[in-house]
Amino acid sequence: MGSAGSPAPAALTRCTRCILPENHPGLTFDAEGVCSQCHAHDRQRPKPRGEEALARDVEPYRNSGRKYDCAFGLSGGRDSTYSLYHAVKVLKLKPLAFTVDQGFIPDETWANIENATRILGVDHFRVKHDLTERSIKPMIKAWVRRPSPGMVTFMCLGCRLGLYQTVQKISHQYSELPICLTGNGEPQEEEFARSFYTTSSSRMRAVAELACGIGMDLLRNPRYFLPPSLPWRMFIEGMYVFPPPIEFIRKRVRMRWKNIDVMRYLPYDEEKLERILQGELGWKRYHHAAAGWRSDCKIPLLKNLMYKKLLGFTRHDGLISGVIRRGLLTREEGLARVARDNDIPDEFLKEFLAEIGLPYEETWGRARWDRARI
Ligand SMILES: [Zn+2]
Repeated sequence: MGSAGSPAPAALTRCTRCILPENHPGLTFDAEGVCSQCHAHDRQRPKPRGEEALARDVEPYRNSGRKYDCAFGLSGGRDSTYSLYHAVKVLKLKPLAFTVDQGFIPDETWANIENATRILGVDHFRVKHDLTERSIKPMIKAWVRRPSPGMVTFMCLGCRLGLYQTVQKISHQYSELPICLTGNGEPQEEEFARSFYTTSSSRMRAVAELACGIGMDLLRNPRYFLPPSLPWRMFIEGMYVFPPPIEFIRKRVRMRWKNIDVMRYLPYDEEKLERILQGELGWKRYHHAAAGWRSDCKIPLLKNLMYKKLLGFTRHDGLISGVIRRGLLTREEGLARVARDNDIPDEFLKEFLAEIGLPYEETWGRARWDRARI
């Protein structure tokens, strides 16, 4: 553990092939210093399914008689905006787009949504839920008293629950639409967050270790029980993220629409995506975010700031490592990218805390880094 101001190690030892640091949870290294995620990549060689497979998979749902072919979940971020662009321009689909507003979407992202839907001629509506706004203030107040990397993921508590419940509701309303397209370029957040508590490959064991680990973090810091609805919300959200093998519960959390994630099919080159989006749709990232990834919401930036403070790295290190493994960046370019992307300005935090009504000095300024669990 470091000084009160910065508990993170000053310089990190990193994988010699990608740039994952040695304190990344769930990672092991071989004698040459190559990490277990690089070895897993060599074994699996994950590949996108391809544009042809995507065209084949959406074809049965194309409907000439109806106004719309499908629903489209649009966050306004880079990947979802590009997926909408692909759906309209390449697949020639007629989507009805919607955005679930959890209260933390930056102005730039709203402008992206407005521009993309106008230029592409797509109808769009917005649905609001307030579960995240109700959770974030007490979550931050509790976290700063005993910072823990595993609890960082809960800063967006309520977002997924609100999203799932809202999407379920509108899927009933638009039940004539058979599918919902989305564009989520990086779906491994759960895996990262979970690896602070468990790395077991046995499902039963992983769930037990996860429950124990989170339970211990809550008991060590009883402020998470103020208000008592917070741990309950964590439990319910957990049911949506990891539905237990009980049919009665699965039925309640299952989506009505079939979901097709466009980004799972397309080759991933984030710089190319941003170039096309900026050129054709006037797409912009949130002004405080150096990276395009997840710049559709302010909370991922807060979470990265917390990870950086505790561990010295952020989610960007994992994302860039994936890009290096696919041969799209050299290791040196990757290191330069994370140095840029992980530079999160203090101004952002001050603005963010002011927006949710928390005083900066009394909250972040008095964070108990000496009690951090890292
Ligand atoms: Zn590696």
